[in-house]
Amino acid sequence: MARVTEAFSADLRVAPRANIRRDTSTQRPYIPWAESIAEGLARFASLPDEDAARAALDDRLSFLRAALRDSPYYAATLREAGFHPGDLQTLEDLGHFPFLDRETLAAHWADVPTPMSDADACVVVKSSGSTGAPVNVVRDRQDCLHMWAVLRFLVARAGAVLPPHPRVVLLDALPGGLEYSVRLPILQDGALHRISVLREDAVERLRRVRPAVLFSDPEGLRWLASQRDLPTPRLVLTSAQHLPTGLRAELARVVPAPLLNYYATTETGPLAWECLRDEAPGRFHVLAPDVWLEPGLDEVVVTRLRPSVLPLLRYRPGDAGTVRRDACACGFQGWTLEHFGGRGACRFVTPSGREVDAWALAWVFKHHALRVFRLTQAGGSHFQLELAGAPLSSVGPLCERLTAALRNLGWTQVQLDVSTVETAALATGAKPQPFRRCC
Ligand SMILES: [Zn+2]
Repeated sequence: MARVTEAFSADLRVAPRANIRRDTSTQRPYIPWAESIAEGLARFASLPDEDAARAALDDRLSFLRAALRDSPYYAATLREAGFHPGDLQTLEDLGHFPFLDRETLAAHWADVPTPMSDADACVVVKSSGSTGAPVNVVRDRQDCLHMWAVLRFLVARAGAVLPPHPRVVLLDALPGGLEYSVRLPILQDGALHRISVLREDAVERLRRVRPAVLFSDPEGLRWLASQRDLPTPRLVLTSAQHLPTGLRAELARVVPAPLLNYYATTETGPLAWECLRDEAPGRFHVLAPDVWLEPGLDEVVVTRLRPSVLPLLRYRPGDAGTVRRDACACGFQGWTLEHFGGRGACRFVTPSGREVDAWALAWVFKHHALRVFRLTQAGGSHFQLELAGAPLSSVGPLCERLTAALRNLGWTQVQLDVSTVETAALATGAKPQPFRRCC
């Protein structure tokens, strides 16, 4: 199995660390598959009849039953718990099955996948651990290409139309600055460019590339909003859990393109997108039928309903939120995730007296579950960071990112005290509260 990250992963959290896969011509046979994924998403986003939608999703469980039998981890775990994969006939049955926590996946990452007929097509992607151990995520070729299939759907959803041979830019604000350009046959014979905002010629490169689609994180978007004379993409995407208040408007002044915020994790791929109506921020429409997010709980629980080498049954990525059936004014009919992140509002105050939405810093902690850190403003420039179970090696880079982010927001000097604590010490009831101010 190749230990590489495919360059064409649109997930900015997956920084290519090793070889970049350049044999993108082999994407071509997957084009009909990508089209069928986009069609499925479009169909399920406008199914008014919940019973019919559930019945169609129940049908998708057949491949999962087979995968659970073939997965060494699931075969053993279900047997020990007294279950049989055949017990999973409908979505209702899921409630009886055991959860798969992120920590468990980290420990059993090699046993959860089903035996691979084409192991060379699989890659192992490392995602930084939320509670310590990094998670190795095995992806098959479809997993790696899935975001491009979903992108077709999201482009249509945003009312955008791509030109022939669209150029896609991953605008990267994280230190590291690795850049590359590869062909992207799976998206209308397009091309993919990864551009680092930390390079001096970043603006020049953007003007030259003229992207039709641009992916970035809130820090990259903030950088974009501070530039002038930029080309306007047809669609801008970001995968922040929380878009800082005002950033949309700030960006729209410079880049008047629709901005689509989606929710994805390295383990699951894209799960939902935030409603594009201005009046409805914080409502994430679930990407059925590829994934099922269980309604009525106070955290995200994912079952993957499309075939993958990595069967995910009741997977808990560690995010808070509640899913319910929805008929949205944007036209969407399906399931919607609300109270995502379970965030309590918190405002930090800069030394000049300006209030800043503390969640503007959420991207800094994107590798950390909301329950394993807490950042407290204890004084004007004095911050306390409490971490539960973070590996020592991750603390230095995290503090660097945090200090740099605070500087960008207006703190010229930052005093940052870091301490490690037990997870229980950060417990704040049902909803995690990773940001607070006590000054
Ligand atoms: Zn909507």
